[in-house]
Amino acid sequence: MLTDIIKLLPDSVANQIAAGEVIQRPASAVKELLENALDAGATQIDLIVKESGKTLIQVIDNGCGMSETDARMSFERHATSKINKADDLFAIRTMGFRGEALASIAAIAQVELKTKRSSDEIGTKINVEGSVVTDQQMTAMNEGTQIVVKNLFFNVPARRNFLKSNAAEMRHIVEEFHRVCLMHPDVGFTLTSNEKEVFHLFPGNLKQRIVALFGNNYNERLLPVAQEADTVAINGFIGKANFAKKTRGEQYFFVNNRFIKHPYLHHAVENAFQELLPKDSFPSYFLNINIDPAEIDINIHPTKTEVNFQDTKLIYAILHAAVKKSIGQHNLAPMIDFDVNTEMNIDFGEISKMNRPINPPSIDVNPGFNPFHQGELNRKSGMHQDQSSAGNWRLLYGERTSGQGTDIENKSQQEKEPKSEMRSGNNRFLQLRQSYVVTAIRSGLLVIDQHLAHWRILYEQNLQQLEREQSGSQQELFPQQLQFNSTDAALLRELIKPLKVLGYNIEEMGQTSFVVNGTPVGLVEKDIHGLIEKILEHYKKNATDLQLDKKLNLARTISSHTALKYGQLLSETEMGGLVDRLFACQVPEVAPDGHKVFATLPFNDLQNLLK
Ligand code: ADP
Ligand code: MG
Repeated sequence: MLTDIIKLLPDSVANQIAAGEVIQRPASAVKELLENALDAGATQIDLIVKESGKTLIQVIDNGCGMSETDARMSFERHATSKINKADDLFAIRTMGFRGEALASIAAIAQVELKTKRSSDEIGTKINVEGSVVTDQQMTAMNEGTQIVVKNLFFNVPARRNFLKSNAAEMRHIVEEFHRVCLMHPDVGFTLTSNEKEVFHLFPGNLKQRIVALFGNNYNERLLPVAQEADTVAINGFIGKANFAKKTRGEQYFFVNNRFIKHPYLHHAVENAFQELLPKDSFPSYFLNINIDPAEIDINIHPTKTEVNFQDTKLIYAILHAAVKKSIGQHNLAPMIDFDVNTEMNIDFGEISKMNRPINPPSIDVNPGFNPFHQGELNRKSGMHQDQSSAGNWRLLYGERTSGQGTDIENKSQQEKEPKSEMRSGNNRFLQLRQSYVVTAIRSGLLVIDQHLAHWRILYEQNLQQLEREQSGSQQELFPQQLQFNSTDAALLRELIKPLKVLGYNIEEMGQTSFVVNGTPVGLVEKDIHGLIEKILEHYKKNATDLQLDKKLNLARTISSHTALKYGQLLSETEMGGLVDRLFACQVPEVAPDGHKVFATLPFNDLQNLLK
């Protein structure tokens, strides 16, 4: 006779299997226990491990504690105080909500839980071993919860054998500890391993927490990031480009204080650093994305480090802009291409000694065209929709250099003394050696390198055009025929499309010959063949030396060869336009290769010079 063959797994086995999903290693238990303590509102949490958590994990918190019944219930699968209907899933702000952690841990370890609420006289102690409650008693203790997890995987030898060396498991634990501590700087934490205290973190702000975790030298390495938009706020710190590491180091994204991994958003940060990062190095960041929980879907992975956003592109854009802004406002010391001495000591003697090639002024210009006329290129190319800082740069810059005073103070001063910085007739700008534009700002003198400034402006413009695939306008040419060697011809063929976006209308005529029908409006260079040759040469070099991607490379190369040269005489209006457009850039401080675009001579230094 045939019998039915399907049986229900015994609970203990089912629990063990399920436990494997939540608890892979000691660090996963650590994470769950720390998060529970935080969810309980603890302000002090102590973590104690022995043998990297293999023999003991203990977490002591001063949170809300549990009643006797809840203490018992907490070990049941899907027992959670944090959710009761599926809808709540989307409104979750606590760490845990699946009600699986304690049940899972209790299935594969020997657990002792002691807990007491402040309203209770006496606490509860419960022992569970392999999902079986072995003891329950009353116990005297302070408010909060203390949980001891012994001999993880004692009943799952396969898992236990699968654990890595103590050093490796400890690294995982420390990593989880970092993640939790970083997002809760207001909570005190300690970590004790094999009776030695490894971390003792006092409550403070995020910066203090980062420094406490990663070392004192982080004090000067961090740049604040703060950006608010409708549904999203991004806050935290990024590491300055020149401290970027050769290994992927401290890279932390949090969403509503929960650690997540997100390669796409990671790209937003890395991309914002662009050419400021030395080759093969990685920026550090500690960024929290605060977002309406309705905008995210967190319930997609048991360890919950993956998140889907409703509008990831938007978050990408906001994050990218936030990081860029931070770099632009604070980072004046990028690292790449320091092949020449770029130190601009703010001293006119020094400046005049700087050995830059000074090209003779070009006489072959279109007198009717003013490349710096405010809006000329902008309007045509759709550039600089965000003109917030254009024209406002004095205010912006005054803020940055003085380092004191609030926006409001600056603004009102600004309004009180309009254009009072320079009182030499109508001239507010001075051109020095046909290379530097000098003007007064509230804190002193501002000296701008005209070539580098224009390079930065054109670079951002080109890049934006390439990214939006939005062509700038062209001027028609009497078609010019160009001839290249076969390598260059192959490269040019590859670049025809993006070049077209940038206003270079080039057609292929044969294996190695091309015809140029149009160039961007405003291009002063008349030797198109020479220009394209230089661009291709530079492009090849950048592709190998800097490993730049196509868009970055093209934007950078073209802008470098079409930017205003040294030796070009500028009118007052042109200088004004240049300066305004520079400060409307996202990163006005540095040229695409990392050279400083401008420097200031603070008024105090000037006074000292004249003493
Ligand atoms: P979850 O955190 O997903 O709700 P857990 O299995 O981690 O599930 O915990 C189950 C329940 O036990 C929690 O919802 C909470 O009510 C209670 N709990 C667990 N740890 C603590 C703690 N340290 N302090 C107070 N309550 C706790
Ligand atoms: Mg939990």
